[in-house]
Formats: sequence, structure tokens, C-alpha cells
Amino acid sequence: MSAAAPKPVPMLDVNRQNAPLLPEIDAAIAEVTRTGTFINGPACREFEEAVAAQVGVDHAIGCASGSDALLLPLMAENIGPGDEVLLPSFTFFATAGAVARLGAKPVFVDILPDTFNIDPEDAARKITPATKAMIPVHLFGQAADMKSLMALAEEHNLVVIEDACQAIGATAGGVAAGGIGHYGAFSFYPTKNLGGMGDGGMITTNNAEKADVIQRLRNHGQHPRYYHHLVGVNSRLDAIQAAVLNVKMQYLTEWAEARRAHADRYTSELKSRKVSLGLPMVTSGVSSVWNQYTVRVADGQRDALQQALNAVGIGSAIYYPVPLHLQGCFESLGYSEGDLPHTEQAAQEVLSLPMFPEMTTEEQDRVVAAVAEFNQSGSTTAAPASVPMNTPAAGANVDLPSSKAG
Ligand SMILES: *Cc1c(COP(=O)(O)O)cnc(C)c1O
Repeated sequence: MSAAAPKPVPMLDVNRQNAPLLPEIDAAIAEVTRTGTFINGPACREFEEAVAAQVGVDHAIGCASGSDALLLPLMAENIGPGDEVLLPSFTFFATAGAVARLGAKPVFVDILPDTFNIDPEDAARKITPATKAMIPVHLFGQAADMKSLMALAEEHNLVVIEDACQAIGATAGGVAAGGIGHYGAFSFYPTKNLGGMGDGGMITTNNAEKADVIQRLRNHGQHPRYYHHLVGVNSRLDAIQAAVLNVKMQYLTEWAEARRAHADRYTSELKSRKVSLGLPMVTSGVSSVWNQYTVRVADGQRDALQQALNAVGIGSAIYYPVPLHLQGCFESLGYSEGDLPHTEQAAQEVLSLPMFPEMTTEEQDRVVAAVAEFNQSGSTTAAPASVPMNTPAAGANVDLPSSKAG
């Protein structure tokens, strides 16, 4: 008798989340269809109000994507040619793309190796008279060091746009991500912690005047209709997406708690097996909503671990393999390898393991077992030229507690 091959463990499974909600979601979509209001309308306003309340701000403005949620505040602040914007290089492309699309210059800042988030001291070193704004990213769901960053911004009169696309529900100093800077940018791309059934985004702010400007900019700058004092874009939130997100919003806290429990369990299980990986940590005073659980694999063994997991049907992902300062499209900015050492090392070492609220204990056990098995064999069968895996990456926090979140 041969045992059936175990079912694959996916990196994430959106269907498992959506399936039990389908009756509710279908009804919400049917209501939009019935009213025929497909752009803006009551479902959009309800969702904007829910996000504003969640983030604890006065204004939330829906838009077409997280990418546009970064673009529109930059437009509202008239950021353009001649202006510099500080941002981490270790992030999704959209953070820098928004800046470059407006003709402004992205200035790439290194990360803190323990959190993967922007290093406030490196940001301070890169401020010039042309620096107008800063976009801290709350990477993998953990809030950046907003206290230091806001102090820096105040000192140099910089606009702060928080890229909270991976971090809805996270906090720093007890304040929600996206509600600390001048603006917050959120994405409802299907794989985010609050994922729609298509694209969607949201801008949060406490600035009533700028909220008004952004509301016009997302609709070709018109106000009233067909009168344009500003050149805007078409970036509105579909009512059908808002209807879906209104349903899913009710579960946001519950899902974040499930992710946190999975993260804590990964950390305790991996530690008890004494794996020589850099395990993620959450610094005190901030919380993570664990959009990703990302480990560091030193000594060039990362890709081998990914292949070993893949061979036994376990998903994993590399966020992000190429730092933005080394991307071809930014060649003219003149960066070269070695400019942002922590970023470049992270790009070589990171591997994100399966993480989604509905992941089962059995699935997680299989991930842990496969990682541990590779880790043990890795130290004996590694290629002779490479150092054994039991040396943690410089800066990796192997022993620190996983989460002070709450
Ligand atoms: C997903 C993401 C974005 C862009 O969001 P879209 O909705 O896909 O446009 C921006 N920044 C970060 C950090 C993201 O993870």
C-alpha cells in the first residue's frame, strides 16, 4: 500500500477565503447590479467610511488600485520634475513607479535588516534641498518606524505618504498604519490582507482640502462635471469591488488574528527545531498583520530551499529578488551594486513561506517539517564551496521574539 501523495500547500489560497462568503458576496453584487450605479454610489461610500473608521482618519477616497493610491497624493502635492522623494528600494515596484511617472526622482534608501523597513538614519543622510516627500513602506504587514520618520519629516518639511498596501490593520505607536503620515495608501489587490475580486485602492488623510483635491484628481480633475481646473486621471473604485470589500471588511480583524497565530506558531516551531534561518521579528511599539512570513536563508542556500519545498508541493515566494535601485528602468539614476548593502543582501536571502488565514495546522506542520529537513541536510550536503547553513545572516534576528503585536 502506498500512501497518497500529500496535497500541495499553496502560498496562499484566495478561494478558501472567498468560498464561504459567496452567498453574502453574491447578494452584495446583486444589489449593485440592481441599482445600476457601478461607479461611486452607496457601496463605495460605505466602504470609504469603513476604511476611514478602521484607519482612524477623517477622509478615505477610493481609487482604482494601490498604485494609484500612491500616485494621487503625490499629484495633490504637486510633486514633479526637480523634486526628490525618499523611499525604500526593497519594496514592490509601484512605490517607486508612482514617483517616476510624475517625473520626480526616486531616492532609494536602505532598510533595517531586522524588519526589512526603511532605515530612518539612511533616509536622513539622503535628504537634499530638493527632497519634498517620503514614502515609508510597511513591508510584509509590519509598520515602519514612523516615530523617527515623522520627526525627520517635520524637521525637513517633508510630505509623508505611507505605503500601507500590505498593512491594513497594522499599528505603530498605537496608531493605525496609513493614519500616521499625511496620507496612507491601501491596495485591495486579491492577494492583500483585504483582497477584492479585482483591483482597488484607497487614500486616507486628515487633510480636508487635499481630500477634496484627490477626489477631483481621481475623476479627471473635474468639478463640477465637465469643468476642469486640474488635470486628473480616471482612477475610481468600482461599486462591485466596494460591495465585495464591504462584506470582507467584517472579517479583517479575525483574519489578522489568524495570521498572527500562524506567524507565532511558525516561529516557535522553527525555533524548537533549531533551524538556522533568520526568523522574522516585530520591533516593540509596532504591530504586524503578517501579509507575509519571510525568513532569511544565508550562504546562497535560499534558491535551494525554495526548490526543495517546491519538490514536495509546498509553495513559497521571493519578495523581492531585484532591488528597485538596480532595476533596468532606473539605470539613469546611476545606482550600482553595493550602494544599498542591506537591501541587496535581503534580496539574496529572503523567502516567504505559505501564509493565509485559512491555512491549517497540518499544512503548517508540513511546511515546518520540510524546512527543517532541508536545513538539517543542508549542513551536510551543501556544495563544498559554500559555508554550511548554520551561520545566520548578518543582521538576521534568529533569537528574537517573533511578535509583540497586539
Ligand atoms: C500591492 C502593492 C502596491 C500596489 O498595489 P496595486 O493595488 O497592485 O496597484 C504598492 N505597494 C506595495 C508595497 C504593495 O505591496
